[in-house]
Amino acid sequence: TGTLKPFEVHVRAEPLTCFESVVGQEGWRALMAHAERTRTRMAGRTFWNVNTTARGGGVAEMIPRLLAYARGAGVDARWMVLEGTPEFFRVTKRLHHALHGSPGDGSPLGLAERALYDEVLRDNAEELLALVRPGDLVLLHDPQTLGLAPALAEVGAGVAWRCHVGSDLRNAEVARAWEFLAPGLAAVRLAVFSRASYVPPQCADRALVIRPSIDVFAVKNQSMAPDVACSILAHTGLLGDGACVMEPAFIRGDGVPARVSRGADIIRLGSAPARDTPLVVQVSRWDPLKDPAGVLNGFALLAREHPGLRAELVLAGPAVTSVADDPEAASTLNAVVERWRGLPHLLRQRIHLACLPMKDAEENAAIVNALQRHAAVVVQKSLQEGFGLTVTEAMWKERPVVASAVGGIQDQIVHGVNGLLVRDASDLAEFAAEVRTLLCDRELAARLGTRARQDVLDHFTGARHLGDISFLIEQLDA
Ligand code: UDP
Repeated sequence: TGTLKPFEVHVRAEPLTCFESVVGQEGWRALMAHAERTRTRMAGRTFWNVNTTARGGGVAEMIPRLLAYARGAGVDARWMVLEGTPEFFRVTKRLHHALHGSPGDGSPLGLAERALYDEVLRDNAEELLALVRPGDLVLLHDPQTLGLAPALAEVGAGVAWRCHVGSDLRNAEVARAWEFLAPGLAAVRLAVFSRASYVPPQCADRALVIRPSIDVFAVKNQSMAPDVACSILAHTGLLGDGACVMEPAFIRGDGVPARVSRGADIIRLGSAPARDTPLVVQVSRWDPLKDPAGVLNGFALLAREHPGLRAELVLAGPAVTSVADDPEAASTLNAVVERWRGLPHLLRQRIHLACLPMKDAEENAAIVNALQRHAAVVVQKSLQEGFGLTVTEAMWKERPVVASAVGGIQDQIVHGVNGLLVRDASDLAEFAAEVRTLLCDRELAARLGTRARQDVLDHFTGARHLGDISFLIEQLDA
């Protein structure tokens, strides 16, 4: 034991002042009051956040941004990332699927898997328990970390768990996941979910609902002129050379301009799309629940039925080995590539599969930003989705979105008001029809996009989320 060690990711403090311009006077006063109360309450104590990957996916996206502002407010907020083994991540990915009501690879979640899960967490706990002091508060993220709760509670920390996944389904898979997670769940004072319907009866008396958010000031969401977006995409290889009108630069979080240096790893048959080709874009981890193969099939159907429609598809995700706690990336991407190979030549030329470079998180964010901004239509064809930050990100950029009416996406998109929902996530014809509507009706697309940005501003920024975290800390400490 003791061979697996969590590591700390250092988070830079960011002042809260940027929010003053977006929340209005009343919102600003409330945010300042939250900051003051939380700083006073947490004086001399640490607010730990623990998850299992430093990059890739919504949780790794959200933690550092929220903690940066918490630090800016004077709270000692710190981020620890656990180390796992491939076997451990296979079990936790299986759990992730089960919480979404899906069987994943169908492997068991029995005693052997429990023993493996417990052992990896016991190993990691050694280092963590040496850092956490009695009175500290710990927020564990997702099923991968919940098993740490009993040991942390025992040393006198206030432990909460935030589950970012969930499903409105209540089937045998969901029950199996909760059975597996029961010992950890019993040891937390509070459990946080993204939707009320995700709360299991076991912790209904200690549950909070907090919806996720995006940081509208992060590199991923910063404003970007269309020329800059095109140049970044041309440099990355996602658009043809003609789109590159300048040396592409973006502004790093510390305010320093940086160049986009690396190309993406792109699988395509023909040349890169021209600057004025309308793009249908999905940016997601290579995960079966994001249904990249379904996006491809849906686009193929659309192209077959409307041969005159001018559009190309970009399916983009992280480099396959880069997301530590997601072991399914390579096999999911391979399945998509196989499907792509089977398409007719002319159609294959219009479909581009891109693995984006992940070494430099801010560079990756700038590329995602450019891609989402340049898209004519952003899609999120998930079969299940805890929340869907990619949807929020696209809405912030005033993009018209077509997304499945599943999980937390339903809390973001109101059909026909700020985007379009596909009622049956597995219905390719419905998906294709909604995408076509937005490609053809640019006026509707613009109207949905404008409203989408306003809705993000009203409900899904860090200002609202920081207030919720402040309330969580208060409840946890009560
Ligand atoms: N993302 C990224 N690069 C990629 C693919 C995804 O930065 O190549 C980001 C994406 O912009 C979003 C997050 O990963 O911020 C995905 O969050 P979401 O809630 O949509 O899904 P999750 O991966 O958490 O299931």
